[in-house]
Amino acid sequence: MLNIILFGPPGSGKGTQANLLKEKYQLLHISTGDLLREEIANGTKLGLEAKTLMDKGELVPDEVVVGMIQSKLDANKKAKGLILDGFPRTVKQAEALDQLLGELNSPINALVSIVVDEEELKQRLLLRGKESGRPDDQNESIIENRIKEYKNKTTAVATYYENKGKLHEINGVGDVETINKLICSTLDSMSKF
Ligand code: ADP
Repeated sequence: MLNIILFGPPGSGKGTQANLLKEKYQLLHISTGDLLREEIANGTKLGLEAKTLMDKGELVPDEVVVGMIQSKLDANKKAKGLILDGFPRTVKQAEALDQLLGELNSPINALVSIVVDEEELKQRLLLRGKESGRPDDQNESIIENRIKEYKNKTTAVATYYENKGKLHEINGVGDVETINKLICSTLDSMSKF
């Protein structure tokens, strides 16, 4: 199995790249942001609770997203591998993930960190807000809060996997295809699969 975490700040292009990679490597794509937006669209209790936090640019509780990941893994036991996008976002989530994957004897192979500077992120998110109408992309102070949450709670996840020798950083400024090639060559050059 090939289990990859696509990592990076909001607006770094994780979703776009995940969609390309899942085709090439035949992986199950799990985006906790998409799963949460599905819950909101379905009007579930979980969705309603998550929405109040997401609209402020805050993270939803670890137990909520870990529970969603667990159900996805349970429902897809035959997956050839995973591409995780937007998860894990805290060290607690990373530890829970490693526990779940440990039970499946299928650990994370790599965390690919997409590096984009803050000014570029803000511009991209504001543009995405105009095009997609995502409420958390509409307003600069919400975007700043998401970047703050990323710095305070999420960057430690990269260090967590760096300590396990699994961190791969790539430059995320450029066109989609160039960045995709960088990620693919990183994955193809990994010895473990
Ligand atoms: P982006 O990476 O562009 O911010 P996402 O779709 O990944 O977009 O996430 C949108 C929002 O969903 C986040 O700001 C957060 O509130 C919530 N969210 C998504 N994934 C997680 C997670 N793993 N842990 C906590 N909150 C999450």
